[in-house]
Amino acid sequence: MIPERDWYETIPFADGVTLVHEPWMSPFYRCNCWHVRGRERDLLVDAGLGHFPLRRNLPLLRDRPILLLVSHTHFDHIGAAFEFEERLVHPLEAAVLERPDNAATLFDRYAAGAQDAQMFLEPPEGWDARRYRIAPAPATRLVHDGEAIDLGDRVLRVLHTPGHSPGHLALFEERTGILIAQDVLYDGPLVTDCPGADMTAYVASIRRMLELSPRIVHGGHFASFGPVRLRQLAHAFLAEFDARG
Ligand SMILES: [Zn+2]
Ligand SMILES: [Zn+2]
Repeated sequence: MIPERDWYETIPFADGVTLVHEPWMSPFYRCNCWHVRGRERDLLVDAGLGHFPLRRNLPLLRDRPILLLVSHTHFDHIGAAFEFEERLVHPLEAAVLERPDNAATLFDRYAAGAQDAQMFLEPPEGWDARRYRIAPAPATRLVHDGEAIDLGDRVLRVLHTPGHSPGHLALFEERTGILIAQDVLYDGPLVTDCPGADMTAYVASIRRMLELSPRIVHGGHFASFGPVRLRQLAHAFLAEFDARG
């Protein structure tokens, strides 16, 4: 059993971006949360499983003004959302963030019946799937496609990218070419058949990401990747969709 102090890890990337994650979770369940440093305020995209308090363990998330943007409301992305004063989400996900019961967040479907060994490399101290609850974290701001998230010296553009979930959001920063794609596109098995998924919308979101020509893609799970891998993954996805007719 992993104690609280060893649960979270931060890994700095270029351009003031830091990965915040839970390395003891198995990769499919391990959410990548992305911290973006700004002059006036910071941004965190997604908030992990929430079994242990997040901000208490990470000074990075505690000492400066910070916005939390929730890419979508699956349990592995919103567990610690309630710890943040400013919570941004797309209108189509807002109801779940307000009432994040285990059915709506897909915990019941993907995790409640899973063996601990499936979800974790080693479980955290005190883990009991039967007692897992996410605290309500009603949105303080609804965000729509095309809106800007202004951190003072840098601006990230909000992209509504449905497909994996109805109100899924991604973020693109023009100046640095950073695309935070979360669960729409990562370098691992994509989930296209969960409740709320929509393949037609998914295909359109993937095409849109290709058109942006990002320099680096940070996904919601697995490792970050560059433009060549983006084209490989996107084209494989679109070819498979075409083959299915
Ligand atoms: Zn998801
Ligand atoms: Zn996820």
